Amino acid sequence: MSGAERYTQLLATAKVRERPLFSLPLNFTELELQARWFAGDFGRSFIGTADEQIEIVQFGTWNREAGPDFSDAAVRIDRGETLRGSIEFDLADRNWEVHGHATNPAFDETVLHVFVESGERTFFSRTTANRNVPQVRVDPTTLPSAFSTNLPLARPGRCHAPLRGLPEEKICSILDAAAQFRLQRKTLRLQRLSELHGDDEALFQELAGALGYKENKLPFTLLAQRLSRQALRAQPNDIEAALFGVAGFLAAPDLAKFESGTRQYLRVLWDKWWPRRAAFERLILPARTWCLRGTRPLNHPQRRLAALAGIVASWPQLVRSLGENDLVPTRKFFLDLAHPYWNFHYTLTSEPAPAEMALVGETRITEILANVVLPFRQLRGGDVWPDYARLPARLTNRRLETGAARLFGDDPRRPRFLRTVARQQGLLQIYEDFCLQDDSDCAQCPFPEQMQKWT
Ligand code: SF4
Repeated sequence: MSGAERYTQLLATAKVRERPLFSLPLNFTELELQARWFAGDFGRSFIGTADEQIEIVQFGTWNREAGPDFSDAAVRIDRGETLRGSIEFDLADRNWEVHGHATNPAFDETVLHVFVESGERTFFSRTTANRNVPQVRVDPTTLPSAFSTNLPLARPGRCHAPLRGLPEEKICSILDAAAQFRLQRKTLRLQRLSELHGDDEALFQELAGALGYKENKLPFTLLAQRLSRQALRAQPNDIEAALFGVAGFLAAPDLAKFESGTRQYLRVLWDKWWPRRAAFERLILPARTWCLRGTRPLNHPQRRLAALAGIVASWPQLVRSLGENDLVPTRKFFLDLAHPYWNFHYTLTSEPAPAEMALVGETRITEILANVVLPFRQLRGGDVWPDYARLPARLTNRRLETGAARLFGDDPRRPRFLRTVARQQGLLQIYEDFCLQDDSDCAQCPFPEQMQKWT
């Protein structure tokens, strides 16, 4: 039985579900209070401001991105069904309004608003859809004063202790099986896309999504759907202009504000885009589709879009490299992608960089190989697992770190479990299949018992 089949069996046992004015003591900061909330120091059963019984089933994880303080939390109100979502912790009830949460879609999934201070006026916590978010007021004066400020991203789960007692080979075997399962799912996804749009378009759409990173996966995928590879290659001199134009990056005609090199670059794109603009009008992405804040300059979507244009222009070379037996030619294809402007610019408004920069760096190439190229080769019947298992991990992210904290906690072997892309992907699969489906704070999660039986 293959690893993917054994993991499927393990997964079958999981119940997968679709898932007077208070004055703040001077010696407590908001961050400390949040940490103490997360540590359970305030308890987990509360009476809400509407007299409802509120039970915290899961405290979730610290959110390091925009939005409420804790994500992937779960609460139960008046012993009803478990509600999954985020928890916001503020010093005062009015901060929900003052900080603009009521009009911020990032707060739409909030299931609980916790605060310390409330005034004489009643403030309701409402989402953009006008949903009332239950409120709980907590009292820091009930807390003992000493507290460690070492904030964990997540608390180890019930599986941590048994996993700690397992030999390394057994844990790696579970991670590998979960990774094979994940690889198979990606291959199936590509297969579905291929059946709908053909091999080349499917590959193009998946590559575009991978270049969009997490933040801009949607606009990149939309672009690849709206401007097919075939249509782009039919006008080989206009590939980049069409992509930038439909992306909505050529909307402002005022080029005077750019430095001369950028002006020249944009002028060329403009001259090619403008005569075709009317024909594409309905396909142009609205600016709000893009997430331009918070991305590292090297990963700016405009740089990635130029890379996508280069990939389309050199499509036959890419396809040839995929026919080889190892990954070296494909890695070289991506490393060799070059652009006279973007090799020396982070963004359109940045000064030219003193040294040349890769258009697509090693880290992204590894991600593309793991998530697109190897599933594509597997779809064509290749045995890709040996290559997949060898890919070194180059990147981590919040979800991965949270999964590692929950399953491995302070196990000194933790870095060794996550040295390869495959094992990272295996951990992500377990985190998504078990941790994110669990609403019992681990109590009813079948993973600890199932993995003990793993042979
Ligand atoms: S939900 Fe399951 S897999 Fe996740 S930490 Fe708890 S016991 Fe472990």
